[in-house]
Amino acid sequence: MTELQQDSNFQWTGEGLECESGIHWAIAEQANGIVAIIVNSPGGILTGKQVRVLAEIVGEDGVIKNTRRMTSLLLIPKEKVAAALEQLQAVGLRVANLHKSVRNIAACPGKGFSPNSRGDTLELAKMLDEEFYATILPWDFKIGISGCPRNCTGVQCHDLGLMAEPRGKYSLWIGGTESGMNPKHGTLVRKGISRDQVIPVVKRILETYTAGAEEFGLELGSKARLYHVLEKTGLERFKQAIEEVLSTTSIK
Ligand code: SF4
Repeated sequence: MTELQQDSNFQWTGEGLECESGIHWAIAEQANGIVAIIVNSPGGILTGKQVRVLAEIVGEDGVIKNTRRMTSLLLIPKEKVAAALEQLQAVGLRVANLHKSVRNIAACPGKGFSPNSRGDTLELAKMLDEEFYATILPWDFKIGISGCPRNCTGVQCHDLGLMAEPRGKYSLWIGGTESGMNPKHGTLVRKGISRDQVIPVVKRILETYTAGAEEFGLELGSKARLYHVLEKTGLERFKQAIEEVLSTTSIK
């Protein structure tokens, strides 16, 4: 099984970004010379202190754009980038990525916020982010979590979607994509996954995805999403991998 590697290191040179592992970190000069930095925030959660720092970075008349992946996009002059990265780090914020890793994790408000929720979403998003941030992958990997079947996060439209069931369990979809010219829904592959099993199951899916992308590398090219790999391997390989993990992890 392919062992997952992580690399959160990159260098801002003053002109651009350098990253040995090839992860595309979300710091990029725009057509007008202004630099956009996208800030990672699983589930779109920021503390008041973090929001204050984002406001300080862009300045009183600056702009912060919320993105569809629940991140904050800051637009600042190039000469302010190095200082901004230090300010972000000081309040526990990290730069999001655009390609070759797990993207910022989308989650609805879930338990404690939404009266309809069947389970936790935001803490799970944070746990998954802590585990898989900066994991080196073949291409984008988007995770979405919904707290009930109203499905405000659209879990079927992600590479991997989790939906809370009653009694602390989750249903799992894989292989969706919401963007591009050919959006598609993922497939429901398992119900009844306990919270403690989510991290090992996601890890095994990422390993199986990475191994499949390596196996069919030439046919898939350099931008293989999970749904591309699934077209080659079939769903059964992933189902078996998931069942293997579930049979060896305890259910609490
Ligand atoms: S998916 Fe359900 S729990 Fe989550 S915000 Fe929508 S209604 Fe609330």
